[in-house]
Amino acid sequence: MRLVLASNNTKKLKELDAILAPLGWELVPQGQLDVPEVDEPHCTFVENALAKARHAAQLTGLPALADDSGLCVDAFGGAPGVQSARYAGEPRSDARNNEKLLAELGENRQRAAHYVSVIVFVRHAHDPQPIIAEGEWHGEILPAARGDSGFGYDPLFWVRELEQSAAELDAAEKNRRSHRGQALARLVEQLLAHR
Ligand code: IMP
Repeated sequence: MRLVLASNNTKKLKELDAILAPLGWELVPQGQLDVPEVDEPHCTFVENALAKARHAAQLTGLPALADDSGLCVDAFGGAPGVQSARYAGEPRSDARNNEKLLAELGENRQRAAHYVSVIVFVRHAHDPQPIIAEGEWHGEILPAARGDSGFGYDPLFWVRELEQSAAELDAAEKNRRSHRGQALARLVEQLLAHR
């Protein structure tokens, strides 16, 4: 099955592809099909993921997969949440987002946070029954960055049970534990059940 991925984030594509390719599903990033990015105006992950998936399906005529994800920090009431990619404004920058997170959290001792990923699959743009799956990954915000793999907030995301930051994990280990890995595993279960 050929699917359009409603994202051009190459690192996300790699994480999703590692799980979907063995099932024979080919993910084509929307940029390769000339699909421009769509706004993400909603205040929930699921609404933004649906908007992205429907837009990509509409413009390509292909089934579409979209992930909307972010980091929710307890001390900030769940922010930056759906604003995670643009936390420090435009143009998007992981480095500036991380700096801002550390500055705003300061010496706060309440450092619990979790990543959320909502993945949506639509068979076509007006699919009335999208397949939706969600995953969460809980950790803590470190006082300084560690590691250089992964992307986004990974160098600041402490995985207590492994005593490593998310950016110190290899790709396979991250996929096994991450919000996106969990959401995708749940999505695949549902896709296989609907086949
Ligand atoms: P999206 O592309 O709108 O889903 O934005 C997701 C943003 O959330 C990314 O740009 C990162 O800032 C953050 N994020 C989501 N998943 C991860 C992850 O696995 N590691 C690090 N940051 C992530």
